[in-house]
Amino acid sequence: MTRSKLHKRSLAVHAGTRRSQYGEMAEAMFMTQGFVYEDAAQAEARFQKVGDDEFIYARYGNPTNRMFEDRIAALEGTEDAFATTSGMAAVNGALMSVCRSGSHIVAARALFGSNLYLLDVLQRFGVEVTLVDGTDLDQWRAAVRDGTTAVFFESVSNPTLEVIDIAAVSDIAHAHGAMVMVDNVFATPVFSRAVEQGADVVIYSTTKHIDGAGRALGGVICGSKQYVREVAEPYVKHSGGAISPFNAWLMLTGLTTMELRVRSMADSAAAIAGALSGHPKLSKLIYPGLADHPQHDLAMAQMGSGGTMLALEIVGGKDEAFKVLDRLELVLISNNLGDAKSIITHPATTTHQRLSEEERARLGISPGLVRLSVGLEHPDDLIADLTQALE
Ligand SMILES: *Cc1c(COP(=O)(O)O)cnc(C)c1O
Repeated sequence: MTRSKLHKRSLAVHAGTRRSQYGEMAEAMFMTQGFVYEDAAQAEARFQKVGDDEFIYARYGNPTNRMFEDRIAALEGTEDAFATTSGMAAVNGALMSVCRSGSHIVAARALFGSNLYLLDVLQRFGVEVTLVDGTDLDQWRAAVRDGTTAVFFESVSNPTLEVIDIAAVSDIAHAHGAMVMVDNVFATPVFSRAVEQGADVVIYSTTKHIDGAGRALGGVICGSKQYVREVAEPYVKHSGGAISPFNAWLMLTGLTTMELRVRSMADSAAAIAGALSGHPKLSKLIYPGLADHPQHDLAMAQMGSGGTMLALEIVGGKDEAFKVLDRLELVLISNNLGDAKSIITHPATTTHQRLSEEERARLGISPGLVRLSVGLEHPDDLIADLTQALE
């Protein structure tokens, strides 16, 4: 079977599978922290060089983790991957492992709150961070220079759904020798072609669509074997960021159904966007799949889908937004996303609360803005619930 020729759906079911001597059908959960050696010499040899499919300690690697890493790498089209405790451990590991005092990072300003926090931490250690408007290529051109270590951005930003041109930003970065690191959570591995578009490192919070049922935290750093194993892994494993085998097992099985879930969620998101577009209670409806989205053409070329997320701006600001949230019966108020259950979030008072009002305004996170993560309920039920809550 030539793995590279298989569709993502097939890879998501089979890639990376390792079977023990029992020939189990389902992926085994190796809930073990350590591994025993035949003799002392074998232990010595393994510490000198860990061969393929050899393990020392679960913080360094574990067969279940490895199955998940190989499967997601196959889906993403990277040589390798390292799985982490959470999405933030992945972002931290990806960035921290390439930075030292004096490094220069250029990042899009529209970022998830924890990503912005992490960039602040890097600056404490002498890393220079330049923030740009990610949709403005001239700003990237002006900011990236020879010696820039990496560029970092969310390919679709949280929560305002700006779409950033991976290919164009990669060209700018690569012309100066900078690595391209993409937080690709909103695109999901299903719609991602980030590597062929130029990304060097693709990062996921697997807590989202990959688990898909809101059960466990996880993250993954996907990239070349050299970067993953020689740059990211040493930092992550020595700083304690490796995923638990139990969570890796949840993610591994999550991947098998991810494409069916994500495509269904994206279809529902498009149906909701169509049904609510122009609603008098909405001053804005942001969905990359709608023709009026400022980067609609880019979204279609880059992902072939508008994705599973919408942002709605409710007329009347925070008070009215809260009323709409409180009236919803099926859609839950929470702050996860990519879950089977539809979830609504008021970013200004939750995920992006830490930002100043001015910074929120600059990012388009107005008091009336809500973020909707579309789940697996029937779209007609979701449209009915949203419609009754708006009225
Ligand atoms: C959730 C999220 C993260 C962080 O992931 P955790 O698993 O919660 O640590 C990072 N980036 C984006 C875009 C996210 O949505």
